[in-house]
Order: sequence, then C-alpha cells, then structure tokens
Amino acid sequence: MDLDIKGRWALVCAASKGLGKGCATALASEGVNVVITARGRDALDATAQELRQANPDAQIIAVAGDITTSEGRAQALAAAPHFDILVNNAGGPPPGDFRTWSREDWIAALDANMLTAIELIKATIDGMTERGFGRIVNITSGAVKAPIDVLGLSNGARSGLTGFIAGVARQKRIAERNVTVNNMLPGLFETDRLRQSTDAAAKAQGKSYDVALEAKRQAIPAGRFGTADEFGAFCAFLCSAKAGYLTGQNILLDGGAYPGTF
Ligand code: NAP
Repeated sequence: MDLDIKGRWALVCAASKGLGKGCATALASEGVNVVITARGRDALDATAQELRQANPDAQIIAVAGDITTSEGRAQALAAAPHFDILVNNAGGPPPGDFRTWSREDWIAALDANMLTAIELIKATIDGMTERGFGRIVNITSGAVKAPIDVLGLSNGARSGLTGFIAGVARQKRIAERNVTVNNMLPGLFETDRLRQSTDAAAKAQGKSYDVALEAKRQAIPAGRFGTADEFGAFCAFLCSAKAGYLTGQNILLDGGAYPGTF
C-alpha cells in the first residue's frame, strides 16, 4: 500500500533509539523527510546516517537537544520549513514510591510526558490546518489504560496528555481540515527502556535479570515483546494519507496483555 506521504516533513522526537527510531525509520522508508532529535549526539548521528543510507531520496536532519526544554524544542522546530507530521516522544519517568516524589519530580514528569507534547502541538497544528493536512501521534503508554503501580509519574502525566488530546482532536476546525491527533500506547517493547525497567524490577525483587524478563514475557499472550519496527509501521500508517478518518483514538499495541474487552 502506498501511504501517500512521500515528500512530507515529519518531526520525530526522541528518535535515536527505540520506539522513536522505529517511527522515524518507517516514515523515512515512505519517502518522508524526517527531523529526528535526541540528547546524545553519537547515537543520534549514527541513526541519521543509517536512515540516509537506506533512503537516499529523503532528507534526514538530526537535531541534538533535550526536547523537554524550550531551547530543545525551538531548535527542532527550526530545522524544517514546516511540519506535516509530528510524533511526540520523550524518555519515560523513573519508577518509585509516590511518597518520595517531590513537586520537582512531578514537574519534570509533566514536562517530559505532557507539556512538551502540548507545546509542540501548539507550534505546528495551525500550519497543518492551513495546509489541509496534518498527522500528530503521541507515544504514551499502556499504563494510561492499565496503570503500573511503580510508574505513578508516568500514569499521571500521560493521563493528563490523553485527556487534553481527546478534546483537541475533536475540535471541528482541526478535524475538518484533515488534521488527526492520536495516541499510541505501547505495551512491552524490546528497547533500552524495557531493559532498564526490568533491571530495576529485578534488583527490587531480588531476582536475576533473566528471571524478571521471562516473567514479563510470560504475561504477554503473544508470548513475546514487541519490536520497534512493528511499532514504527503502525505509526507510519497513522501518519498516512489513508488514515484521515481516524482521530482522537488511543491505540494499544501490547500483544494482548491488556485483559479487558474494551
Ligand atoms: P528508549 O529505547 O530508551 O529510547 C529513548 C529515546 O528517547 C532515545 O533516543 C533517547 O536518546 C531519547 N530521549 C530520551 N529523553 C529525551 C529528551 N529529553 N529529549 C530528547 N530525546 C530524548 O525508550 P523507548 O522504549 O523507545 O520508549 C519511548 C517512550 O515510550 C518512553 O516515554 C517510554 O517510557 C515509553 N514506553 C515504552 C515502553 C517499552 O516497552 N519500551 C512501554 C511503555 C511506554 P537520548 O537519551 O540520547 O536523549
């Protein structure tokens, strides 16, 4: 299927590794020009080089910076003439006990997993409505549907973003201009984030890393973790010209782990 987005401009945040990289890879393979960001320069440049080699017709621009800061966002937004596609992503907050979290911890989580996405939407959505095409995808978490007790900062901040998106996506002057806004909710995907959270859980429970990882795998009906490539492919479809009637949705990709009917 031709996704019909060749030549569009996309900003994919936090994309040197993991799910963001999966989205950037899939978009670039459709001929989309992609701006990718991350804080660490080495991995970012390596990913940009990989994408350029695989997609010589697409422009790939790497912007090193912290997307949760106003400077980081300004640099990313200045890297292209305009954006038709925005994939919001940032690192997830640390696990812990809510009794120990300070106001600063909460502000950092809200900045990373709620307010940064809102700022980037603010900066790009009016141009999308003027041009009559826009696709915004926010990478949130399965924790929005089924909270994870030690990830209270994530449960809270991402639920705030989810509520905000539900209202924005349905604004008539946005939806009728072919601009869609959706959230992708990852379950467990094989990335650095999964390795780090499994390591922390193993230490907290006094188990080995392999035992903790296997317990997580066993709890997934599909019997495996997701891959960044399959996450990216779904993201590219959501960003495609074909997906114009799909907006305001929370789409869970979790191999069947969520146990509810709805
Ligand atoms: P990952 O493999 O650790 O990759 C994170 C990427 O984001 C890296 O490229 C990292 O590069 C970049 N990044 C992190 N903080 C950033 C910042 N402030 N500014 C710019 N770039 C930043 O993580 P992932 O598994 O892809 O997870 C992506 C998101 O999905 C996270 O919010 C995570 O909590 C959420 N999630 C993941 C899973 C899963 O199973 N993997 C499940 C549920 C939710 P630098 O460190 O160099 O900046």
